Amino acid sequence: MLDWQIGKIVDIQQATNATRRFFIELSSTQKFEFEPGQFITLDLPIHEQKNKRWRSYSIASAPTDSNIIELVIVLLEGGAGTTYLFNETTIGSELTLRGPLGKFTLPTEIENDLFLVCTGTGIAPFRSMIHHIKNNSLAAKNIYLIYGSRKTEDCLYKDELIELQEKMPNFNYIPCLSRETENQNWYKKGYVHNAYTDIINSNKINEQLRPATFYLCGWKNMVDEAKHTILELGYDKKDIHLELYG
Ligand SMILES: Cc1cc2nc3c(=O)[nH]c(=O)nc-3n(C[C@H](O)[C@H](O)[C@H](O)COP(=O)(O)OP(=O)(O)OC[C@H]3O[C@@H](n4cnc5c(N)ncnc54)[C@H](O)[C@@H]3O)c2cc1C
Repeated sequence: MLDWQIGKIVDIQQATNATRRFFIELSSTQKFEFEPGQFITLDLPIHEQKNKRWRSYSIASAPTDSNIIELVIVLLEGGAGTTYLFNETTIGSELTLRGPLGKFTLPTEIENDLFLVCTGTGIAPFRSMIHHIKNNSLAAKNIYLIYGSRKTEDCLYKDELIELQEKMPNFNYIPCLSRETENQNWYKKGYVHNAYTDIINSNKINEQLRPATFYLCGWKNMVDEAKHTILELGYDKKDIHLELYG
């Protein structure tokens, strides 16, 4: 198991009403090495019992030569860890953490279309993966980022992802907004499940499914429903990777 280390918060930015971006410097190293999709675990002073103090967060930034990583965290009403992070920490605060951890990572060779399906802060590992693919000019087929949220103002990294879509011809940013009523061409109305189902069906040739790899990230209800739907559509369990937030 990796050792605990100290990280210093070097910046905090309000991203949406309930979500903040935390930038953390790992001063024990010059370059923090991790794979896109991995997470770190924080040991927060919120309980006497060790394992009740641990909260994990996906790394939202792509690997670089630096020792600063970004986390994107939503405040959960009554949540012990997020209440501490939002109310008790500021720029300069130190956090105890360990990582990188986890196997929710890209294959060495990206041979299939990628469906990256998430809601809310579940976008974190995918933002890291997409920037990593672009930064390293990795060969990839179609990449569909299917992002569920309620309204336009809840869309994390919206402008950045729209811009990335313009620069990366194989990258498709597909926000699905459940509480927007107006038709606008940059998002779809409704839930993520309709969006990937439509793409999968329209990509079929002679009724054959196009090979695809699915990454699902976020809260249990969405992840369970997506897994079930993708299996029903005819894909195999081995095509699906999951990161459950709770
Ligand atoms: C591998 C991994 C990566 C994660 N990455 C992120 C991330 O990048 N950003 C992020 O915001 N969170 C992430 N989480 C969730 C995070 O670890 C905490 O669970 C979350 O911040 C709530 O912590 P808390 O102490 O405030 O709430 P707690 O007091 O622990 O929460 C109480 C209960 O609410 C549930 N719950 C928590 N949040 C929600 C929610 N939004 N909707 C529905 N139920 C919820 C929990 O499962 C728990 O049962 C990740 C979790 C895992 C396992």
